[in-house]
Amino acid sequence: MTGFARYVAARLAPWFRDHHRDLAWRRTRDPYAIWVSEIMLQQTRVETVKDYYPRFLQRFPDVGTLAAADQASVLQAWSGLGYYRRARLLHRGAQYIATTCDGKVPDRVDALRKVPGIGPYTAGAVASIAYDKPAALVDGNVARVLSRLQGVMEPKHQDAKAPGHWQATQAIVDAAKSPRIVAQALMELGATVCTPVNPTCLVCPVRARCVARARGLTATIPAPKKRGPVPRDDLWAVAIYAGEKLLVHRRPDKGLLAGMWCLPLIPREGNRGRGGKGVSLAAVRKQTGIRVARSRELDTAVKHIFTHRIWELHPCRVEATGKQTDIGTHYTWLHPGELPSGGVPKVTRKLLAALTWDTSSKRA
Ligand code: SF4
Repeated sequence: MTGFARYVAARLAPWFRDHHRDLAWRRTRDPYAIWVSEIMLQQTRVETVKDYYPRFLQRFPDVGTLAAADQASVLQAWSGLGYYRRARLLHRGAQYIATTCDGKVPDRVDALRKVPGIGPYTAGAVASIAYDKPAALVDGNVARVLSRLQGVMEPKHQDAKAPGHWQATQAIVDAAKSPRIVAQALMELGATVCTPVNPTCLVCPVRARCVARARGLTATIPAPKKRGPVPRDDLWAVAIYAGEKLLVHRRPDKGLLAGMWCLPLIPREGNRGRGGKGVSLAAVRKQTGIRVARSRELDTAVKHIFTHRIWELHPCRVEATGKQTDIGTHYTWLHPGELPSGGVPKVTRKLLAALTWDTSSKRA
């Protein structure tokens, strides 16, 4: 392992200096900013993060500012980026660091692991990239590179949790003159050269020691993942109007899109109105506590794909009847041109667009 690790570290460092993409989070050594970027980059494309990262840092430039913010404004800044649990955990992590670590992002992996939302990968990334410590880190890109380099055939040893990959990465960063460069280089190699399909082995700096390339196994390693059918939810997206006002619902604090604003959602199965048309008025009243009339399904269905779930949403307009004074804290009325104040996920924007609700104006 030592000779292999020294080889990889020695080849990757100069390659990274010459070939890395110029990304905003690579121009800083601020551990807070690097932590934010690592959380944003989980399950999210670099191109998307490029937009959100500077805006988020402008609004929350340091741990203290983020810790002191209310959750609604953090979710608002994260709106559209998806996987909102990350934002809530980042917020909680900042509060932990502000109160427990004097506002300083820890530099050791064991201390970083105690911060809410920081797992082994993020701890390794912050310790190595921000503090130049020889800390191991394995994400999907690194796992693919190491599986191919070492010719790992067994699927259970190929993924980012495989202990063999953590040991190999530890040996590589231990052998590096600058762990921060080599840690980033491993990830960059996976993202830009050793790609899932058609890796460009001809320009790979470690091709001379790559087992998969030598044996013609680059299409076989890693083994394709077997995916089961994705569950689908068939839902009414209920647009309750009171005159020109529209009701929106803040989702529960746990579960999908927790704490984010959406239309009230009701399963279509068993909740159809009279004659099978539109949403059942009784179901709307049961869920929201609001008396409604005139259920009318709109033509525009909205499909939203999450990683492990698909929502098939059918907007249905109903009219509130009587006075609507007591709607509780999980609902709010929007006036024309308003958006709810707080987190508004993409799916809600799609629904509002389907209702031709103007979202260009101020927040409620
Ligand atoms: Fe990946 Fe090809 Fe480099 Fe091997 S030689 S690490 S398969 S890009």
